[in-house]
Amino acid sequence: MKAYSELSREELMELREQLLAAYEEKKALGLNLDMSRGKPSPTQLGVSVGLMDVINSDSDMKSECGIDCRNYGCLDGIPEVKRLMAEMMGTTEDHIFIGGNASLTLMFDTVSRAYTHGIMGETPWCKLDKVKFLCPVPGYDRHFAITEHFGIEMINIPMSETGPDMDMVEELVNSDPTVKGIWCVPKYSNPQGICYSDETVRRFANLRPAAKDFRIFWDNAYVIHHLYEDNQVEILDIIGECEKAGNPDMVFEFASTSKVSFPGSGVSAMATSHANLEDAKKHYTIQTIGNDKVNQLRHARYFKNLDGLKEHMKKHADFMRPKFETTLKVLEEELDGLGIGSWIKPLGGYFISFDAMEGCAKAIVAKCKEAGVILTGAGATFPYHNDPKDSNIRIAPSFPTPEEMQQATEIFVLCVKLVSVEKLLAA
Ligand code: PMP
Repeated sequence: MKAYSELSREELMELREQLLAAYEEKKALGLNLDMSRGKPSPTQLGVSVGLMDVINSDSDMKSECGIDCRNYGCLDGIPEVKRLMAEMMGTTEDHIFIGGNASLTLMFDTVSRAYTHGIMGETPWCKLDKVKFLCPVPGYDRHFAITEHFGIEMINIPMSETGPDMDMVEELVNSDPTVKGIWCVPKYSNPQGICYSDETVRRFANLRPAAKDFRIFWDNAYVIHHLYEDNQVEILDIIGECEKAGNPDMVFEFASTSKVSFPGSGVSAMATSHANLEDAKKHYTIQTIGNDKVNQLRHARYFKNLDGLKEHMKKHADFMRPKFETTLKVLEEELDGLGIGSWIKPLGGYFISFDAMEGCAKAIVAKCKEAGVILTGAGATFPYHNDPKDSNIRIAPSFPTPEEMQQATEIFVLCVKLVSVEKLLAA
């Protein structure tokens, strides 16, 4: 098949007729398929079988530190779960604060503390005329929602295959004191599945920020979420690299077991320097007497250690891989060589990121919806929901079955073709 841009007007018109007929046929099926959010499927929730049973009324409820997990106390988490999360994040327990069921709360709290009280004695961000955050794009919509919520100005930073454009990051962070943070998903990024190279991580660690309270928000949400056993990416430990570079306080790292155990009741963790921990704990001690230690104990006893987590993640990968492969196969078979879209084959994480021809993403998402396929709203992967090229679409293959993913992707590629042909005809 020729690239669409090489087709004559007549060929394009004929193609449009064929595609419209195929589209109407698909629409008539009355499907209802959702590939919008990165939710584990019901089958994946079943992978954590037994997690609810490691503790019952007869269990010894004491943590290894002697505290009764049913009672108050232990603000930063019980030692065995700190150790587990530290192993998962590639750092040590002394850097860990255990949160509630979701890491997003820890991220929100961290921005919120900086906004109302300031970081380590610095001016609270609410008292400054301008506060800016750098946002590698495409990125995670809920990150951008947090910074938008606090009125923080967001600046797009383009992503490359090795991470964010570090020339731009260095230039802005090192020269502009109003730049206070950057959102990063360093491993199997949402939505592109990109992993930061060692050079990128080192360049982050060696930033020389103009603002003393500049912090990297290192959201390692997919740290153990590999798709392939024989092709796994490992990235450098940012906390260790920042220490080596003389910037120990520059990073807050986040992770959770949301997509390991249960997104509704997992365990979350923040890893950061001792000074940042002390600063954060001054606030947390007002905010709570402690998070859910029964759930922490349950997770620590169930997974035991990093090996336990890794074994467990293989089972998730077995369910995820066929869905990713089905989706990618349809994309390749139907779109390769047409010059109307590009995508990256991820090795982990929860998403496939698709770039359509400029000006087509919104129309593709709308066409899919009309045919019963729900995608994440176009623009959601950019700050302010504004994709300047109207090109990026996030595909989330985790929730539907592989068969549903096949059907949904077939409709998706049809919509990509149809919208692209219409765009070319209108040009
Ligand atoms: N960070 C990223 C990059 C995510 O993709 C997600 C879930 N989609 C989260 C955080 C949410 O994590 P949690 O459930 O721990 O709040």
